[in-house]
Amino acid sequence: MINYISSKPEKFMTKDIKKYKVTIDSDKCIGCGVCVSLCPEVFSLGDDGMAQNKDFKKQDNLLVGEINETQFATAQQAEQACVENAIKIEEVK
Ligand code: SF4
Repeated sequence: MINYISSKPEKFMTKDIKKYKVTIDSDKCIGCGVCVSLCPEVFSLGDDGMAQNKDFKKQDNLLVGEINETQFATAQQAEQACVENAIKIEEVK
C-alpha cells in the first residue's frame, strides 16, 4: 500500500506569522535601560540616552515599529518591566 503525502501548496502557506506593533513613548521614557537589558534585539539606547530602535519610525513623541513572533517574548518582558509604561506591544491583525 502506498501512502501519499499532500503536496498542495496551501497546506504549507496557511500558517500565519504573527507580527506585533511596538510603540515607545519618548516622553515617558527615562532611559533606565531595563528594556535593553531584557531585549537587546529590539531595544537600544540612543544618543539622547532614551530607548529606541533604529528601524522604528518617529511619530510625534512616539517611536513605532514592528517585531516578529520570535522577538515577542522578550519584548513583552521589557514592556512589563518598564516602570514608566513607555512600551506598548499589540498584535497586528
Ligand atoms: S524600560 Fe522603559 S523607561 Fe527604561 S529605557 Fe526602556 S522604555 Fe525607557
